[in-house]
Amino acid sequence: MRPADLLVTGGTVLTVDGPGTVVVDGAVAVRDGEIVAVGPAAEVAREFEPAQTLDATGCLVLPGLVNTHAHLAMNLFRGEADDVSLEQFLERLLAAELAQLDATSVAVGVEAALAESLRGGVTTALDMYWYPEAASEVADRVGFRLLNGPSFMDVIDPDGRDFDARMAWAEELLTARRDADPAAPAWVMPHSAYMLSRDQLERVMDLAVRFDARVHVHAAESPGEDDAVRARHRGRPLPVLGLAGVLGPGTVVAHAVQLDDTDIELLAASGTAVAHCPVSNLNLGCGIAPLPELLAAGVPVGIGTDGAASAGALDMFAGIRLAALLHKGVTRDPRTVGAERAVRMATAGGAAVLGLGDRIGSLTVGRRADLVVCDADRPHVAPNTDPWSAVAYGLTAADVRHTVVDGRVLLRDRVLTTIDERAVLDEITALRRRRTAGEETP
Ligand SMILES: [Zn+2]
Repeated sequence: MRPADLLVTGGTVLTVDGPGTVVVDGAVAVRDGEIVAVGPAAEVAREFEPAQTLDATGCLVLPGLVNTHAHLAMNLFRGEADDVSLEQFLERLLAAELAQLDATSVAVGVEAALAESLRGGVTTALDMYWYPEAASEVADRVGFRLLNGPSFMDVIDPDGRDFDARMAWAEELLTARRDADPAAPAWVMPHSAYMLSRDQLERVMDLAVRFDARVHVHAAESPGEDDAVRARHRGRPLPVLGLAGVLGPGTVVAHAVQLDDTDIELLAASGTAVAHCPVSNLNLGCGIAPLPELLAAGVPVGIGTDGAASAGALDMFAGIRLAALLHKGVTRDPRTVGAERAVRMATAGGAAVLGLGDRIGSLTVGRRADLVVCDADRPHVAPNTDPWSAVAYGLTAADVRHTVVDGRVLLRDRVLTTIDERAVLDEITALRRRRTAGEETP
């Protein structure tokens, strides 16, 4: 017998490996945060002596969901700008942000968002927001796989810094992170072409090159954005970003809704990846991304929630369901996208989009142990024996029973193990009350 730290046993394991292997009555063994065995439960049980076991009987075991576009601390502003255009949304949000945000409030917003994410089976998120140091501190304490970096808009930031001062701060942050862990992936996040000048975009990209950082940017989200970018840059969003050097194999473009054929060619030829955010795009009336065309062109696509202020919830199951269903309706072809492609986009595909394809995204030996155990023995799921269909068309975030990140059980039997959920909900509610009452935040 070999020792294991954790054994997840008794469920149907949807590995999301290349061929799409499914192990009925399977098990996953974990040691030092790494998957060391995946196979029939009886075989794995003969080989491993686990320190702890998670019972997955009646459950589906799948890779942790990868959220490729989030603004986690926007949980602070949930429901404050629904049913308005992107332009009105940004105006309201920016005012609320500048009134309330500091490292403390961002930490509360992030912790609440991580509670929501872990409950919803999300184990990794690419997060673009103010105070990334505060967000990372919370994520490290909770044990969540958070990717972030300095973000840039042509506004005075909540700390009163203009663009130049923010560039200097970003350089310090990236340097400190590189010194602390040279192997950690670095990210820089120019918000968008409408929020930055050509010169600013180029300066941010110069920083990205110097720190060998991956890049996250919004583009082609709404028709109004198209007008704003034309006015500021005399061009359309994706060509403008291309000319400024923003597109490339290390870049993730959020949204990519308003695209023509040349935009799709530009994304494909440059190797740029896309974070598809159907819930947010529908809420803000931005349109429907041409996902089938992006996939046909070979553009790597993951699924993102966007922030809770525009998406309502950080619900990746909702994103999977819409990605699977929406494009059938648009094309009037039920073979478009579908369950397996949508689930892959939210797991292995999302991991690849973030440059983590060899680390997470599938339940295979050697990958880090990020996994989710969902109760499938429920009236809205049973007796579905097709796990792709069960995930895309049946399961909801409320069905998540256990969530494991890097081998650590962060949600066990629906109880968060590293977050005091009651306390963080009380804190985020108090912050909302204080701001809407017009008081100053501490
Ligand atoms: Zn966004």
